[in-house]
Amino acid sequence: MDNFCSERFDVIVVGGGHAGCEAALAAARLGCSTALFTLNLDRIAWQPCNPAVGGPAKSQLVHEVDALGGVIGRLADAHAIQKRMLNASRGPAVWALRAQTDKRRYALGMQRLLQEQPNLSLREAMVTDLLTTGSRGGGNLRIHGVETYFGSRYGAEAVVLTTGTFLQGRIWIGGRSQSAGRAGEAAATGLTDALQRLGLEMGRLKTGTPARVERSSVALEDLEEQPSDAADRYFSFDPEAWISGPQISCHITRTTAATHQLIRDNLHLTPIYGGFLDAKGPRYCPSIEDKIVRFAEKESHQIFLEPEGLDSPELYIQGFSTGLPEALQLQLLRTLPGLEHCVMLRPA
Ligand SMILES: Cc1cc2nc3c(=O)[nH]c(=O)nc-3n(C[C@H](O)[C@H](O)[C@H](O)COP(=O)(O)OP(=O)(O)OC[C@H]3O[C@@H](n4cnc5c(N)ncnc54)[C@H](O)[C@@H]3O)c2cc1C
Repeated sequence: MDNFCSERFDVIVVGGGHAGCEAALAAARLGCSTALFTLNLDRIAWQPCNPAVGGPAKSQLVHEVDALGGVIGRLADAHAIQKRMLNASRGPAVWALRAQTDKRRYALGMQRLLQEQPNLSLREAMVTDLLTTGSRGGGNLRIHGVETYFGSRYGAEAVVLTTGTFLQGRIWIGGRSQSAGRAGEAAATGLTDALQRLGLEMGRLKTGTPARVERSSVALEDLEEQPSDAADRYFSFDPEAWISGPQISCHITRTTAATHQLIRDNLHLTPIYGGFLDAKGPRYCPSIEDKIVRFAEKESHQIFLEPEGLDSPELYIQGFSTGLPEALQLQLLRTLPGLEHCVMLRPA
Protein backbone atom coordinates (compact mmCIF):
# COMPACT_ATOMS: atom_id res chain seq x y z
CA MET A 1 0.00 0.00 0.00
CA ASP A 2 2.82 2.41 0.97
CA ASN A 3 4.18 2.32 -2.59
CA PHE A 4 1.10 4.10 -3.84
CA CYS A 5 0.99 6.86 -1.23
CA SER A 6 2.37 10.39 -1.58
CA GLU A 7 2.68 10.61 2.21
CA ARG A 8 1.92 8.44 5.19
CA PHE A 9 0.47 9.43 8.59
CA ASP A 10 -0.78 7.66 11.70
CA VAL A 11 -4.09 9.53 11.54
CA ILE A 12 -5.86 11.40 8.75
CA VAL A 13 -8.72 13.70 9.71
CA VAL A 14 -11.00 14.74 6.85
CA GLY A 15 -12.59 18.10 7.66
CA GLY A 16 -11.48 21.40 9.17
CA GLY A 17 -14.60 22.48 11.08
CA HIS A 18 -15.02 22.44 14.89
CA ALA A 19 -14.98 18.63 14.96
CA GLY A 20 -12.03 18.07 12.63
CA CYS A 21 -9.84 20.69 14.33
CA GLU A 22 -10.42 19.11 17.75
CA ALA A 23 -9.84 15.58 16.40
CA ALA A 24 -6.61 16.58 14.63
CA LEU A 25 -5.25 18.50 17.64
CA ALA A 26 -6.09 15.61 19.99
CA ALA A 27 -4.40 13.01 17.76
CA ALA A 28 -1.31 15.19 17.30
CA ARG A 29 -1.08 15.91 21.05
CA LEU A 30 -1.12 12.15 21.68
CA GLY A 31 2.02 11.92 19.54
CA CYS A 32 0.42 10.55 16.35
CA SER A 33 1.66 11.97 13.08
CA THR A 34 -1.56 13.55 11.87
CA ALA A 35 -2.82 15.22 8.71
CA LEU A 36 -5.94 17.36 8.48
CA PHE A 37 -7.45 17.46 4.98
CA THR A 38 -9.88 20.20 4.13
CA LEU A 39 -11.45 21.69 1.01
CA ASN A 40 -10.08 25.19 1.61
CA LEU A 41 -7.26 25.97 4.03
CA ASP A 42 -8.43 29.59 4.31
CA ARG A 43 -11.82 28.41 5.60
CA ILE A 44 -10.60 26.29 8.50
CA ALA A 45 -12.84 26.73 11.57
CA TRP A 46 -15.25 28.87 9.58
CA GLN A 47 -18.58 28.89 11.36
CA PRO A 48 -21.17 28.42 8.61
CA CYS A 49 -24.11 30.01 10.38
CA ASN A 50 -24.14 32.26 13.42
CA PRO A 51 -20.67 32.46 14.99
CA ALA A 52 -22.21 31.64 18.38
CA VAL A 53 -20.80 29.05 20.77
CA GLY A 54 -22.69 27.48 23.69
CA GLY A 55 -26.26 28.18 24.75
CA PRO A 56 -28.73 25.65 26.18
CA ALA A 57 -27.40 22.06 26.04
CA LYS A 58 -24.42 23.10 23.92
CA SER A 59 -22.58 25.04 26.65
CA GLN A 60 -22.22 21.82 28.69
CA LEU A 61 -20.70 20.17 25.64
CA VAL A 62 -18.18 23.01 25.23
CA HIS A 63 -17.21 22.78 28.93
CA GLU A 64 -16.75 19.01 28.55
CA VAL A 65 -14.61 19.35 25.42
CA ASP A 66 -12.49 21.87 27.34
CA ALA A 67 -12.14 19.48 30.28
CA LEU A 68 -10.89 16.84 27.84
CA GLY A 69 -8.20 19.19 26.52
CA GLY A 70 -10.09 20.65 23.55
CA VAL A 71 -9.74 24.23 22.36
CA ILE A 72 -13.27 25.38 21.42
CA GLY A 73 -13.89 26.81 24.91
CA ARG A 74 -10.69 28.82 25.21
CA LEU A 75 -11.03 30.14 21.63
CA ALA A 76 -14.65 31.15 22.22
CA ASP A 77 -13.59 32.92 25.44
CA ALA A 78 -10.77 34.77 23.70
CA HIS A 79 -12.85 35.84 20.69
CA ALA A 80 -16.25 36.47 22.32
CA ILE A 81 -17.76 39.85 21.47
CA GLN A 82 -20.95 39.37 23.51
CA LYS A 83 -21.51 36.85 26.30
CA ARG A 84 -24.77 36.06 28.09
CA MET A 85 -25.68 33.60 30.80
CA LEU A 86 -28.94 32.08 29.56
CA ASN A 87 -31.54 30.60 31.95
CA ALA A 88 -30.02 32.75 34.72
CA SER A 89 -33.44 33.13 36.42
CA ARG A 90 -33.50 29.36 37.02
CA GLY A 91 -31.25 27.07 39.04
CA PRO A 92 -27.51 26.83 38.31
CA ALA A 93 -27.93 23.31 36.85
CA VAL A 94 -29.53 24.80 33.73
CA TRP A 95 -27.46 27.98 33.38
CA ALA A 96 -26.02 28.08 29.89
CA LEU A 97 -23.18 30.36 28.84
CA ARG A 98 -23.52 31.63 25.27
CA ALA A 99 -20.90 33.61 23.39
CA GLN A 100 -21.30 35.52 20.16
CA THR A 101 -17.80 35.23 18.72
CA ASP A 102 -15.95 37.25 16.13
CA LYS A 103 -16.25 34.99 13.08
CA ARG A 104 -13.01 35.96 11.36
CA ARG A 105 -10.85 36.19 14.51
CA TYR A 106 -12.12 32.84 15.81
CA ALA A 107 -11.14 31.15 12.53
CA LEU A 108 -7.71 32.83 12.50
CA GLY A 109 -7.17 31.83 16.14
CA MET A 110 -7.88 28.18 15.32
CA GLN A 111 -5.68 28.29 12.21
CA ARG A 112 -2.80 29.59 14.32
CA LEU A 113 -3.25 26.78 16.89
CA LEU A 114 -3.24 24.14 14.14
CA GLN A 115 -0.19 25.61 12.42
CA GLU A 116 1.77 25.68 15.68
CA GLN A 117 0.83 22.14 16.78
CA PRO A 118 3.74 19.66 16.50
CA ASN A 119 2.94 16.41 14.61
CA LEU A 120 0.15 18.09 12.63
CA SER A 121 0.16 18.75 8.87
CA LEU A 122 -2.52 20.62 6.96
CA ARG A 123 -3.46 19.65 3.40
CA GLU A 124 -5.97 21.19 1.00
CA ALA A 125 -7.72 18.50 -1.08
CA MET A 126 -11.09 16.87 -1.58
CA VAL A 127 -11.00 13.33 -0.21
CA THR A 128 -13.12 11.20 -2.52
CA ASP A 129 -12.33 7.63 -1.55
CA LEU A 130 -11.19 5.44 1.33
CA LEU A 131 -8.40 2.90 0.79
CA THR A 132 -9.45 -0.35 2.41
CA THR A 133 -8.73 -4.06 2.38
CA GLY A 134 -10.97 -6.92 3.47
CA SER A 135 -14.72 -6.67 3.80
CA ARG A 136 -17.35 -5.86 6.40
CA GLY A 137 -19.02 -9.22 5.81
CA GLY A 138 -15.72 -11.03 6.31
CA GLY A 139 -15.11 -9.11 9.56
CA ASN A 140 -11.64 -8.07 8.35
CA LEU A 141 -12.31 -4.63 6.85
CA ARG A 142 -9.28 -2.36 7.40
CA ILE A 143 -8.64 1.23 6.41
CA HIS A 144 -5.25 2.15 4.95
CA GLY A 145 -5.71 5.73 3.82
CA VAL A 146 -7.57 8.07 1.50
CA GLU A 147 -7.61 9.10 -2.15
CA THR A 148 -8.21 12.65 -3.34
CA TYR A 149 -10.22 14.03 -6.26
CA PHE A 150 -7.07 14.57 -8.35
CA GLY A 151 -5.80 11.07 -7.70
CA SER A 152 -3.22 11.37 -4.88
CA ARG A 153 -3.20 8.68 -2.23
CA TYR A 154 -2.25 9.17 1.42
CA GLY A 155 -1.68 6.29 3.84
CA ALA A 156 -2.96 6.19 7.44
CA GLU A 157 -3.67 3.70 10.22
CA ALA A 158 -6.88 5.55 11.10
CA VAL A 159 -9.14 7.96 9.20
CA VAL A 160 -11.56 10.28 11.00
CA LEU A 161 -14.39 11.77 8.92
CA THR A 162 -15.77 15.13 10.12
CA THR A 163 -17.24 16.38 6.88
CA GLY A 164 -20.11 18.44 8.36
CA THR A 165 -22.71 19.59 5.84
CA PHE A 166 -20.55 19.03 2.76
CA LEU A 167 -21.28 15.50 1.48
CA GLN A 168 -23.39 16.01 -1.65
CA GLY A 169 -24.81 19.13 -0.02
CA ARG A 170 -27.39 21.34 -1.70
CA ILE A 171 -28.64 24.78 -0.82
CA TRP A 172 -32.16 25.96 -1.55
CA ILE A 173 -33.49 29.49 -1.83
CA GLY A 174 -37.18 29.47 -2.71
CA GLY A 175 -37.70 27.08 -5.62
CA ARG A 176 -34.08 27.26 -6.80
CA SER A 177 -31.29 25.00 -5.65
CA GLN A 178 -27.58 24.64 -6.15
CA SER A 179 -24.97 22.05 -5.23
CA ALA A 180 -22.97 23.48 -2.29
CA GLY A 181 -21.34 22.40 0.98
CA ARG A 182 -22.53 25.66 2.51
CA ALA A 183 -23.03 29.17 1.12
CA GLY A 184 -20.17 30.08 -1.22
CA GLU A 185 -18.38 26.70 -1.00
CA ALA A 186 -18.56 23.62 -3.21
CA ALA A 187 -20.09 20.34 -2.06
CA ALA A 188 -17.87 17.30 -1.55
CA THR A 189 -18.48 14.47 -3.99
CA GLY A 190 -17.22 10.89 -4.04
CA LEU A 191 -17.02 10.14 -0.33
CA THR A 192 -20.75 9.41 -0.06
CA ASP A 193 -20.41 6.72 -2.74
CA ALA A 194 -17.34 5.32 -0.99
CA LEU A 195 -19.23 5.02 2.30
CA GLN A 196 -22.21 3.43 0.55
CA ARG A 197 -19.92 0.89 -1.12
CA LEU A 198 -18.78 -0.07 2.38
CA GLY A 199 -22.41 -0.77 3.27
CA LEU A 200 -23.16 2.38 5.27
CA GLU A 201 -26.61 3.87 4.95
CA MET A 202 -26.71 7.59 4.12
CA GLY A 203 -29.47 10.06 4.98
CA ARG A 204 -30.16 13.73 4.41
CA LEU A 205 -30.80 16.48 6.99
CA LYS A 206 -31.71 20.09 6.43
CA THR A 207 -30.79 23.26 8.27
CA GLY A 208 -31.25 26.95 7.57
CA THR A 209 -29.57 30.29 7.97
CA PRO A 210 -31.03 33.81 7.95
CA ALA A 211 -30.09 36.72 5.72
CA ARG A 212 -27.16 38.95 6.69
CA VAL A 213 -27.86 42.66 6.80
CA GLU A 214 -25.53 45.67 6.69
CA ARG A 215 -25.19 46.94 10.24
CA SER A 216 -25.02 50.61 9.23
CA SER A 217 -28.40 50.33 7.45
CA VAL A 218 -30.30 49.36 10.63
CA ALA A 219 -31.72 51.89 13.14
CA LEU A 220 -30.14 50.11 16.13
CA GLU A 221 -30.62 53.20 18.31
CA ASP A 222 -34.40 52.65 18.14
CA LEU A 223 -34.20 49.02 19.27
CA GLU A 224 -33.83 47.29 22.63
CA GLU A 225 -30.15 46.79 23.40
CA GLN A 226 -28.88 43.49 24.72
CA PRO A 227 -25.45 44.11 26.24
CA SER A 228 -22.93 41.48 27.22
CA ASP A 229 -23.67 40.41 30.82
CA ALA A 230 -21.24 37.54 31.31
CA ALA A 231 -17.89 38.71 29.95
CA ASP A 232 -16.33 37.51 33.22
CA ARG A 233 -17.72 33.96 32.82
CA TYR A 234 -15.74 31.40 30.84
CA PHE A 235 -16.17 28.13 28.98
CA SER A 236 -12.63 27.07 29.80
CA PHE A 237 -11.69 25.71 33.23
CA ASP A 238 -8.10 26.93 32.74
CA PRO A 239 -7.57 30.33 34.45
CA GLU A 240 -4.80 31.09 31.95
CA ALA A 241 -7.46 31.07 29.21
CA TRP A 242 -9.65 33.60 31.02
CA ILE A 243 -9.21 36.39 28.52
CA SER A 244 -11.93 38.87 27.55
CA GLY A 245 -11.74 41.16 24.55
CA PRO A 246 -13.90 44.18 23.71
CA GLN A 247 -17.65 43.49 23.94
CA ILE A 248 -20.44 44.89 21.74
CA SER A 249 -24.21 44.66 22.11
CA CYS A 250 -26.82 42.69 20.23
CA HIS A 251 -30.28 44.21 19.67
CA ILE A 252 -33.83 42.89 19.69
CA THR A 253 -36.70 43.50 17.28
CA ARG A 254 -39.96 41.64 16.62
CA THR A 255 -41.99 40.31 13.72
CA THR A 256 -45.06 42.39 12.81
CA ALA A 257 -48.48 41.68 11.30
CA ALA A 258 -46.95 42.59 7.91
CA THR A 259 -44.21 39.96 8.38
CA HIS A 260 -46.77 37.25 9.13
CA GLN A 261 -49.01 38.26 6.22
CA LEU A 262 -46.16 38.25 3.69
CA ILE A 263 -45.10 34.79 4.83
CA ARG A 264 -48.63 33.34 4.78
CA ASP A 265 -49.21 34.75 1.28
CA ASN A 266 -46.03 33.15 -0.07
CA LEU A 267 -45.66 29.90 1.89
CA HIS A 268 -46.11 27.86 -1.29
CA LEU A 269 -42.88 29.39 -2.67
CA THR A 270 -40.67 27.92 0.09
CA PRO A 271 -38.88 24.56 -0.44
CA ILE A 272 -40.68 22.82 2.44
CA TYR A 273 -44.25 24.14 2.04
CA GLY A 274 -43.94 24.18 -1.76
CA GLY A 275 -42.97 20.49 -1.58
CA PHE A 276 -39.65 20.90 -3.46
CA LEU A 277 -37.68 19.38 -0.60
CA ASP A 278 -38.35 16.67 1.95
CA ALA A 279 -35.78 16.40 4.74
CA LYS A 280 -35.67 16.45 8.53
CA GLY A 281 -34.34 19.51 10.34
CA PRO A 282 -33.00 20.06 13.85
CA ARG A 283 -35.78 20.51 16.37
CA TYR A 284 -34.53 23.79 17.81
CA CYS A 285 -33.79 25.60 14.59
CA PRO A 286 -37.18 26.31 12.94
CA SER A 287 -37.53 28.72 10.05
CA ILE A 288 -39.68 31.82 10.57
CA GLU A 289 -42.37 30.27 8.35
CA ASP A 290 -42.38 27.14 10.56
CA LYS A 291 -42.89 29.31 13.65
CA ILE A 292 -45.73 31.23 12.03
CA VAL A 293 -47.48 28.05 10.87
CA ARG A 294 -46.94 26.02 14.06
CA PHE A 295 -47.69 28.84 16.51
CA ALA A 296 -50.43 30.51 14.46
CA GLU A 297 -51.92 32.11 17.60
CA LYS A 298 -48.74 34.12 18.32
CA GLU A 299 -48.89 37.64 16.95
CA SER A 300 -45.18 38.31 17.12
CA HIS A 301 -41.83 36.55 17.50
CA GLN A 302 -38.63 37.97 18.98
CA ILE A 303 -35.75 38.48 16.53
CA PHE A 304 -32.14 39.10 17.63
CA LEU A 305 -29.73 41.22 15.61
CA GLU A 306 -26.25 39.86 16.25
CA PRO A 307 -22.97 41.30 14.93
CA GLU A 308 -20.68 38.76 13.25
CA GLY A 309 -17.51 40.49 14.41
CA LEU A 310 -15.97 43.67 15.79
CA ASP A 311 -15.12 44.98 12.35
CA SER A 312 -17.59 42.99 10.26
CA PRO A 313 -20.34 45.02 8.57
CA GLU A 314 -22.74 42.05 8.89
CA LEU A 315 -25.62 41.50 11.27
CA TYR A 316 -26.98 37.97 11.68
CA ILE A 317 -30.78 38.11 11.93
CA GLN A 318 -31.30 35.37 14.50
CA GLY A 319 -34.70 33.66 14.51
CA PHE A 320 -35.43 34.73 10.95
CA SER A 321 -34.14 31.93 8.71
CA THR A 322 -36.44 31.48 5.74
CA GLY A 323 -36.87 29.48 2.56
CA LEU A 324 -38.68 32.31 0.75
CA PRO A 325 -37.33 33.29 -2.69
CA GLU A 326 -34.46 35.77 -2.66
CA ALA A 327 -36.59 38.37 -4.44
CA LEU A 328 -39.02 38.50 -1.47
CA GLN A 329 -36.45 38.48 1.31
CA LEU A 330 -35.59 42.18 1.37
CA GLN A 331 -39.29 43.05 1.50
CA LEU A 332 -39.68 40.59 4.39
CA LEU A 333 -36.72 42.02 6.33
CA ARG A 334 -38.11 45.53 5.93
CA THR A 335 -41.29 44.54 7.83
CA LEU A 336 -39.16 44.40 11.02
CA PRO A 337 -38.99 47.56 13.16
CA GLY A 338 -35.55 49.15 12.78
CA LEU A 339 -34.93 47.40 9.45
CA GLU A 340 -37.28 49.52 7.32
CA HIS A 341 -34.36 50.77 5.20
CA CYS A 342 -31.99 47.84 5.61
CA VAL A 343 -29.55 46.57 3.01
CA MET A 344 -29.39 42.78 2.58
CA LEU A 345 -25.80 41.58 2.08
CA ARG A 346 -26.51 37.83 1.79
CA PRO A 347 -29.85 36.07 1.34
CA ALA A 348 -31.14 33.41 3.73
C1 LIG B 1 -26.69 27.01 6.88
C2 LIG B 1 -26.23 26.29 8.12
C3 LIG B 1 -26.81 26.57 9.35
C4 LIG B 1 -26.40 25.93 10.51
N1 LIG B 1 -26.94 26.31 11.72
C5 LIG B 1 -26.47 25.75 12.86
C6 LIG B 1 -26.93 26.18 14.14
O1 LIG B 1 -27.74 27.09 14.24
N2 LIG B 1 -26.46 25.58 15.25
C7 LIG B 1 -25.54 24.58 15.16
O2 LIG B 1 -25.10 24.07 16.20
N3 LIG B 1 -25.10 24.15 13.97
C8 LIG B 1 -25.54 24.71 12.83
N4 LIG B 1 -25.08 24.29 11.62
C9 LIG B 1 -24.32 23.08 11.57
C10 LIG B 1 -22.86 23.37 11.53
O3 LIG B 1 -22.42 22.83 10.33
C11 LIG B 1 -22.20 22.71 12.72
O4 LIG B 1 -22.64 23.21 13.94
C12 LIG B 1 -20.70 22.81 12.71
O5 LIG B 1 -20.17 23.64 11.72
C13 LIG B 1 -20.29 21.42 12.46
O6 LIG B 1 -18.92 21.36 12.52
P1 LIG B 1 -18.22 20.19 11.78
O7 LIG B 1 -16.79 20.28 12.15
O8 LIG B 1 -18.92 18.91 12.06
O9 LIG B 1 -18.43 20.45 10.21
P2 LIG B 1 -18.23 21.73 9.30
O10 LIG B 1 -18.05 22.97 10.06
O11 LIG B 1 -19.32 21.65 8.29
O12 LIG B 1 -16.84 21.41 8.59
C14 LIG B 1 -16.70 20.38 7.65
C15 LIG B 1 -15.29 20.42 7.11
O13 LIG B 1 -15.07 19.29 6.30
C16 LIG B 1 -14.40 19.67 5.10
N5 LIG B 1 -14.73 18.62 4.13
C17 LIG B 1 -15.96 18.13 3.85
N6 LIG B 1 -15.87 17.14 2.95
C18 LIG B 1 -14.56 17.00 2.66
C19 LIG B 1 -13.84 16.14 1.79
N7 LIG B 1 -14.46 15.20 1.09
N8 LIG B 1 -12.49 16.28 1.71
C20 LIG B 1 -11.85 17.22 2.45
N9 LIG B 1 -12.49 18.05 3.31
C21 LIG B 1 -13.83 17.94 3.40
C22 LIG B 1 -14.92 21.05 4.81
O14 LIG B 1 -14.03 21.77 3.98
C23 LIG B 1 -14.99 21.63 6.23
O15 LIG B 1 -13.74 22.14 6.61
C24 LIG B 1 -25.44 24.94 10.43
C25 LIG B 1 -24.86 24.63 9.20
C26 LIG B 1 -25.23 25.31 8.06
C27 LIG B 1 -24.58 24.99 6.73
